[in-house]
Amino acid sequence: MSNYQAPVKEMLFAVKELAGLADVNRLPAFADATPDLVEAILDEAAQLAADVIAPTNTIGDEKGTHIEDGRVRVPAEFAAAYREFTAGGWGGIAQSAEAGGQGLPYLVGLAVEEMWQSANLAWSLCPLLSQGAARAIEDHGDEVLRALLLGPMVEGRWTGTMNLTEPQAGSDLGAVRTLARPDGDAYRITGQKIYITWGDHDMTENVIHLVLARVEGAPEGVKGLSLFAVPKRLINADGSSGELNGVRPISVEHKLGIHGSPTCVMAYESALGYLVGELNRGLACMFTMMNHARLGVGLEGVAISERSYQDALAYARDRVQGYAPGHQGRVSIIHHPDVRRMLLAMKSHIEAMRAVAYVTGACLDHAHHHPDADSRARYQARVDLLTPVVKGWCTETAQSLTSLGMQVHGGMGYVEETGAAQHYRDARITTIYEGTTGIQANDFVGRKILRDGGHALQTLIADIRAVDADLARHGDALGTIRGGLADGCDQLAAAASWLLTSYDRDTSIPGAVAYSLLMLAGTVAGGWQMARAAVAASDRLAADADDREFYEAKIITARFFAEQIMPVAVAYRQAIESGSDTVMALSEDQF
Ligand SMILES: Cc1cc2nc3c(=O)[nH]c(=O)nc-3n(C[C@H](O)[C@H](O)[C@H](O)COP(=O)(O)OP(=O)(O)OC[C@H]3O[C@@H](n4cnc5c(N)ncnc54)[C@H](O)[C@@H]3O)c2cc1C
Repeated sequence: MSNYQAPVKEMLFAVKELAGLADVNRLPAFADATPDLVEAILDEAAQLAADVIAPTNTIGDEKGTHIEDGRVRVPAEFAAAYREFTAGGWGGIAQSAEAGGQGLPYLVGLAVEEMWQSANLAWSLCPLLSQGAARAIEDHGDEVLRALLLGPMVEGRWTGTMNLTEPQAGSDLGAVRTLARPDGDAYRITGQKIYITWGDHDMTENVIHLVLARVEGAPEGVKGLSLFAVPKRLINADGSSGELNGVRPISVEHKLGIHGSPTCVMAYESALGYLVGELNRGLACMFTMMNHARLGVGLEGVAISERSYQDALAYARDRVQGYAPGHQGRVSIIHHPDVRRMLLAMKSHIEAMRAVAYVTGACLDHAHHHPDADSRARYQARVDLLTPVVKGWCTETAQSLTSLGMQVHGGMGYVEETGAAQHYRDARITTIYEGTTGIQANDFVGRKILRDGGHALQTLIADIRAVDADLARHGDALGTIRGGLADGCDQLAAAASWLLTSYDRDTSIPGAVAYSLLMLAGTVAGGWQMARAAVAASDRLAADADDREFYEAKIITARFFAEQIMPVAVAYRQAIESGSDTVMALSEDQF
């Protein structure tokens, strides 16, 4: 049966050497977040993840969730794990101190979150959404609302949800129809939401739903959407939870994976709700939550791949099958070159994806807390550019990595016994919710590249190219990585420049090339971080650091990425420069 141990050493390397914990620690807001403290936090989180949360993963998959007496029931083991989680204050680790959290960097929150996600993806969605909802309320709610909701949410006594989707409004949120009618200082919400993650459950006394709805007479489309906080139970004057409000789960979905996460159809019948932010600015307010969730879901791609990798590696060491050159007798399958290729594809991608996600998290800390306004703007531009890349690239890649995890197991991967199949099934949702890959790619190309004439992307490419000098310092030892990165940059720069000079030739071009450009950017960003990892590891080896095997493995893994992964950049560029002609050529009947 599948076990999970958080790769704390890998995480610390990414947090310190690549995401720049020391720079984050220098921000006045994070003066307490010293490397020693962060290390201690990661160690403690790793223990909770391994001992308490990970054992619930198979249980959730097998038991699933159901509705009883009109309310959702989740496995009792989930509630027990949640109690330990909240007792340790983990839900508020990266929430601001003003909101009742511990005020640690987002970067640290991400590393810890990766552990919960690896341990049990379905369960981890509950704290993920609660934290996002609390952030949106903190950023956009008025003083009364903040005082009413934030304490219990950050403490974990109440959880939060995100209610966007309706049957006719999926990617197209402008089609949302749920209505909000003014009622004194509050509103009455009526409508139906579908696919609401953790929309109801029996782990806490109350749930705060953040709901996109339209006040009667509001403009059509997204410009007429407002955001409301709707409690499952009405909140009494003393802050306690009272009577049930007019919101209830109608059903939970039967689905491919994340069985332990209740995906609810929710009915709102004149439910009391409080406006969050300004009227008709709901989508902008919801974006606080959605951006948090997009980074979080991108991280899910890393986390589920890591869990799949750990299982595949353990199996490959154990399973004896066939003969390998240079070995006497039958060997464990880790000796076969093709199995090693699969394991290295997993390992190198996971390290690259983790680093890109953490680097983006550190940029978010600088974007919020850097003392200098220009620096804050610069970091924010990087976060904006990389968020769809983290979401889209990491989750798309997780599909092939969890598939490889299964492949390493052979037939034992396809049957449910080993857990490899669960990771594959659980990973599948990550490219769909929180904006499909198509939507991320459109955002990347439309809002993040074309809107600023490619400036943010060119700044990123310049930063990536700057690593060349560090690689050159190490001469031939890092020569392959240097060549791979330079080539990847050339492909990305050329593809972006083709887009910038061609997009207005045909309105279908941006949409037709968006996926390939997103994947190309992810691959090059991953190669960038692997190159930086190789430089950091080489520096450590040159300084005679302990742990030589760890650093040597870093360099070999980065070389594998440069040799075997980076070449796909050429293919993506070619696909992009083919434009939209063929994509758009078939009539509907010809499909
Ligand atoms: C398990 C699960 C949990 C979920 N949790 C939540 C939740 O907590 N809260 C919530 O509000 N929602 C949630 N969702 C809903 C989820 O966010 C939507 O399913 C998703 O946004 C896609 O919407 P859709 O299913 O209507 O697909 P559609 O929008 O119909 O998309 C279908 C296909 O068309 C493509 N497409 C659509 N429009 C465009 C376009 N403009 N350009 C290019 N391609 C396009 C999509 O990429 C996709 O491939 C959840 C869904 C699931 C399955």
